[in-house]
Amino acid sequence: MSEIYDLIIIGGGPAGLASSIYANRAGYKTLILEKIGLGGQMIITDVIDNYPGFSQGISGYELHLNMVDHAKRYGMQNESAEVKNITKTDKKFVITTSEKEYEALAIIIATGAKHRNLDVPGEKEFSAKGVSYCATCDGPFFRDRDIFVIGGGDTAVMEAAFLAKFAKTVRIVHRKDRFRAVKALIDQTDRLKNVSYVFNSVVMEIKGKDKVESVLLKNVATNQIKEEKIDGVFVLIGILPNTDFVDKVLLDANNYIITDQHMKTKIEGLFAAGDVRSDTFRQVICAAGDGARAAESAGKYIDELKGILYK
Ligand code: NDP
Repeated sequence: MSEIYDLIIIGGGPAGLASSIYANRAGYKTLILEKIGLGGQMIITDVIDNYPGFSQGISGYELHLNMVDHAKRYGMQNESAEVKNITKTDKKFVITTSEKEYEALAIIIATGAKHRNLDVPGEKEFSAKGVSYCATCDGPFFRDRDIFVIGGGDTAVMEAAFLAKFAKTVRIVHRKDRFRAVKALIDQTDRLKNVSYVFNSVVMEIKGKDKVESVLLKNVATNQIKEEKIDGVFVLIGILPNTDFVDKVLLDANNYIITDQHMKTKIEGLFAAGDVRSDTFRQVICAAGDGARAAESAGKYIDELKGILYK
């Protein structure tokens, strides 16, 4: 362990990148630690249609590149490492990662969330062999094929419209009798001839030899089970927070981090921003806003602490 950072941001999605821009711009010595690569869930989102300033929409990948460029302009530093643990000793935090330890006066956790699994037989076995969690990444592999999209939220309905550009047929399978997705997205799929809906239905099993060939579907209204021939299954049923390394006292019942409106957690100097936060609206715009707010709060905390440390 050598240098002490003012601020370490864990996670490099929109919340982390916005924090980095604000913190570096304000002159704090800042580092982003990121497990895989910068961008978070944005990089696998086809089109972000509601980020203010991009009236024609923008691909998630492009928006991430813009944000990374912007963060670099203010001297962003980032390293790849998986955080295993955070401890607070006196006035500093020690972050233990897969590689080494880091020290910082304040921390912003902006680790976002990962996709939820169906947890049915065949899902793991056929992952990347017909089972996918990312329409943008895998959609083009299903040209002229028949596919299922599982889920009833904004992601499932939006990505079904994207997948309909490639696939012969897209059936959205949802466990309830109506979607949770917003009307504007449903209106879009309503207009597509090759998209249809299978309500009140759950996947019991995904079957095949070397790749997905069929799915056992149960109608939860009639209890009828039938086997449907299918080439691909896109599981788009929501997200889970990346908080495995976070002290349980900071989490809500669903493992999201509880903060106040200043992005402060129960531990002084430890902040959270973006999708990892409890009770938030999980949108890129909100994550970026959280990031800015967390950086501002962290800055005030650091200034106060430095006043104490160097008095
Ligand atoms: P959501 O949590 O909103 O929806 C998940 C969907 O999957 C629900 O319909 C849920 O069913 C279903 N589901 C959950 N678990 C299972 C299971 N085990 N088996 C079958 N079905 C299951 O997740 P999304 O990813 O759709 O959205 C996440 C957030 O991102 C939301 O806030 C959304 O608004 C936002 N978003 C916004 C977009 C935009 O363009 N504005 C685009 C994409 C996402 P049930 O309804 O029964 O609970």
